[in-house]
Amino acid sequence: MPAPTDPNCIFCKIIAGAIPCFKLWESPTVLSFLDIGPLSRGHALVIPKGHAVTLDQLTEEVAGDCGRAVRKVGAAVAKVLGAAGWNVLQNNGSIAGQVVPHVHFHIIPRKEGDGLGYRWNAGQIDKQDAAELVKAIVAEI
Ligand code: AMP
Ligand code: ZN
Repeated sequence: MPAPTDPNCIFCKIIAGAIPCFKLWESPTVLSFLDIGPLSRGHALVIPKGHAVTLDQLTEEVAGDCGRAVRKVGAAVAKVLGAAGWNVLQNNGSIAGQVVPHVHFHIIPRKEGDGLGYRWNAGQIDKQDAAELVKAIVAEI
């Protein structure tokens, strides 16, 4: 069965070759290319070739293919850039910062003093709530 595609999706257009990209790697199910608006030099994206909006819409197999590609491309990007570390960022839904509604993983090389970061306002876990959450989530998995 051919991978689903959305004619209005910019990443589907890249996959179809209708819009150019700086391609890094591809497999039958996954494509990786440089982000056109990089947060740092070498900022790359990994996307499934089939159109899906959020991570939970992927099959386990394609999600696994994406994970393997993130590891492979991320290692190469970090090595070439001489990065001290790298972030993997994956936004699901506009509330989470997703702008392009086609699943993608950001690979962001990091260097000392690069000025990148995010608000990480950590709270304190509530043990009773945590126990209830575990029960509900485990049942859902
Ligand atoms: P997100 O906010 O997680 O949806 O991120 C979307 C990312 O896609 C942004 O970092 C954009 O710079 C990137 N992007 C959008 N259009 C293109 C394109 N034509 N080629 C490469 N990257 C793109
Ligand atoms: Zn798409």
